Amino acid sequence: MTKRKHVEIAGGGFAGLATATAFRQRGWTARIHEAAPELRTFGAGIFIWENGLRVLKVLGAFEAVISGAHRAPGYEGRNTEDQRISYHTFGDECRMLTMTRQHLYSAMFAAAQTAGVDFETNSEIVAADPAGRLVGANGRTYQADLVVGADGVNSKVRGSLGVAKERTTFTHGVIRLLVERRHRDLVSTNPDNVINYWGPRLKVLYVPCNADELYLAMMVRKDDTEVTAIPVRKDIWSTEFPVLAHIIERIGDQGRFDTYETTKLDRMSVGRAALVGDSAHPMPPTLGQGAGCAIMNALGMAVALDEAGDDIEGGLRVWDQRERPLTDHTQAVSGKYVRARAGSDGANKWDATAMRTARHIPTGTAGITL
Ligand SMILES: Cc1cc2nc3c(=O)[nH]c(=O)nc-3n(C[C@H](O)[C@H](O)[C@H](O)COP(=O)(O)OP(=O)(O)OC[C@H]3O[C@@H](n4cnc5c(N)ncnc54)[C@H](O)[C@@H]3O)c2cc1C
Repeated sequence: MTKRKHVEIAGGGFAGLATATAFRQRGWTARIHEAAPELRTFGAGIFIWENGLRVLKVLGAFEAVISGAHRAPGYEGRNTEDQRISYHTFGDECRMLTMTRQHLYSAMFAAAQTAGVDFETNSEIVAADPAGRLVGANGRTYQADLVVGADGVNSKVRGSLGVAKERTTFTHGVIRLLVERRHRDLVSTNPDNVINYWGPRLKVLYVPCNADELYLAMMVRKDDTEVTAIPVRKDIWSTEFPVLAHIIERIGDQGRFDTYETTKLDRMSVGRAALVGDSAHPMPPTLGQGAGCAIMNALGMAVALDEAGDDIEGGLRVWDQRERPLTDHTQAVSGKYVRARAGSDGANKWDATAMRTARHIPTGTAGITL
């Protein structure tokens, strides 16, 4: 009888959960090390497109995700005078769902538990060894057939592997928060739409998550410190967007400001150590595809290694070659839309190039029906 293969994963975010679940489904044992004391996610809302939904279906999280998520009839652009400047619909073959991050996380966590993933919280990983070992801050080492750094944008695993990287930081960033959603919040348009409000200085993305919760993503130049401030300067944001003043008024002291960045690695694996998610390929949120790419690449890795049998390093090379072009494309287009923001009137951006990722059939999801 052949021995089961084992994967040790640093990071219990979306990438870590997807990786562990996908390997468990292929007969591996899988353990996630999460530095935080609890398994949960931070942040406000999130977009998941058709490509991500397909992956969630295979991972066993799709039904839980769609129940309680929001499907907007359209994606609208409006100016500070509350006039429509663009409108786009996506159709049934390429759905765009919005939800709270915790909703997505809970569904993926439940799927990981069902698959039999092991979890270790308060377990910070400080390094990986290409021979197939994670090193904990507590001095312990964890041996495996494969080790994965899914430890986010400031990845210690990536740092320890010495993979060459090219980092781009952008001029803009975003404040993210959730506020209460009320019936008739907007009267001049359909309040179920996702709406991008464009001003000369500021931008607010209005995103219904469910019947009661609204995600606001408030974009601004990172050097405009008056408006990057938390607590949010409600007076300034309301002056630019009077139509949203009553919603902005509901913002308390919450919120966080993050700047945009992209990291491109020359390779996503070294020996038996791989990087996935924001540790490998963070991107600005302009396409709403960072987590989508993370979970696609996680599933793609499990599929490639399943095909490769005992040739772990060969499987990782195949994985990198297969998945990288779409990830590179998504990072490039996301970055382009941050740069195009200056002076833009918010005209429709959802062309075929931007939609390529959402319309992609991820590895391991061919033939499924949703
Ligand atoms: C403003 C903004 C909006 C976004 N909107 C969208 C969107 O709408 N749709 C979308 O698909 N994507 C979106 N993204 C991108 C998405 O949030 C990320 O791509 C995704 O969260 C990456 O998941 P991850 O698991 O790789 O990293 P993370 O979510 O950062 O998870 C990393 C995990 O590792 C843990 N960890 C960190 N260090 C260690 C360590 N040393 N040892 C052990 N554990 C560790 C952390 O505690 C965390 O739990 C957005 C990003 C931003 C900044």
